[in-house]
Amino acid sequence: MLNSSTLSQISPLMTTYNRFPVTLVKGKGSYVWDEEGNRYLDFTSGIATCNLGHVPEPVKQKLEEQLQNLWHCSNLYNIPAQQELASVLVENSCGDQVFFCNSGAEANEAAIKLARRYAQKIKGTNKFEIVTFQQSFHGRTLATLSATGQEKIQQGFFPLMPGFRYLPFNDVEALKDLPSEETCAVLLEMVQGEGGVIPAESEWIQQLAKVCKENNILLMVDEIQTGMGRTGTLFAYEQYGIEPDVISVAKGLGSGFPIGAIIAKGDVAQAFDPGSHGSTFGGNPLAVTAGLATIQYTLSTNLLENVKELTEFLYTQLQALKGKFSIIEDIRGKGLLIGMVVPGKAIEIVKKAIEQHVLILTAGPDVVRILPPLTVSKEEILELIVALEEIFQGIKGSE
Ligand SMILES: *Cc1c(COP(=O)(O)O)cnc(C)c1O
Repeated sequence: MLNSSTLSQISPLMTTYNRFPVTLVKGKGSYVWDEEGNRYLDFTSGIATCNLGHVPEPVKQKLEEQLQNLWHCSNLYNIPAQQELASVLVENSCGDQVFFCNSGAEANEAAIKLARRYAQKIKGTNKFEIVTFQQSFHGRTLATLSATGQEKIQQGFFPLMPGFRYLPFNDVEALKDLPSEETCAVLLEMVQGEGGVIPAESEWIQQLAKVCKENNILLMVDEIQTGMGRTGTLFAYEQYGIEPDVISVAKGLGSGFPIGAIIAKGDVAQAFDPGSHGSTFGGNPLAVTAGLATIQYTLSTNLLENVKELTEFLYTQLQALKGKFSIIEDIRGKGLLIGMVVPGKAIEIVKKAIEQHVLILTAGPDVVRILPPLTVSKEEILELIVALEEIFQGIKGSE
């Protein structure tokens, strides 16, 4: 038992995060400010969430209006902005109907439930198994950590939820093991984010989609990190020429306001009927107002073009750094979801970047993850490059 003097020294927060010693109190565009007024270049975007930069004006205006009118009402009543956001998502994807929730894990939970219900209720089978991939990340709830192909996420939480099987990622040969008597769906990221910024290879995806089709297995893509424009198209799957049955989104959907969703095709979407799934807060008026303003801005401006153009610029700059410093083994990713492979050095580099007032992330011990807002400018990218150059010069043996 903790005695009172020990208790008074420990944080009132559970230690689920190793926090950096930075307290952020304000944000605008690509920058954030700490309590003392120091400015930082934010190339984390709140982990791929603040895609339009911090406090984007068009979203702020709509949220302020909505704050005057109605904050929350139950999904037992019509929510016009929810229907409008669903329409925009459907018009701009291969899906037909949308379910709203509050986070990424909840979106994947909904996808998992939908796949099972479709197999059991619509197709009348007793299939339940969902195949996922090694190094994947699908969330922290019991079902989604069971879907996640990383032991470190699962340690101490046994027994896992049954019904998941993991195959190696990007392995064409292993796809012969995909179908089993029980398999109803696969769930995968188009770029594995938390697992080390590993893009899915096109040839593998084509083969995967083919095996799914031949065996009546649903193809479900987790676009929670890659979606909403991050890779230069609204969804990353568009770049692979496939049409998934279910798409999960969250992070970038609401510019920082908590919201998640799944978008599903025709008869798959209809496996949910009244009472089969729900969420008190899911798609509430404030959340869908943020979502609608965000996607409308994304689609009505040249934002996606900006992503394509600046992706090229950023890769060129990073490749030049790689040419100078042998410590950088690889630059990989898709669009503005970028991994810089620096074996064993990722956290050291992220900490040194904070000293330079630049915020970037890790994706495991070997990869520095760079996630600028989609509104980023060339000048801001050069600010990152200057800081990285200085950091690498200070690391012994990096040249
Ligand atoms: C972040 C993330 C999740 C989990 O989202 P939460 O909102 O933290 O629950 C799931 N899948 C992927 C690919 C993610 O990047």
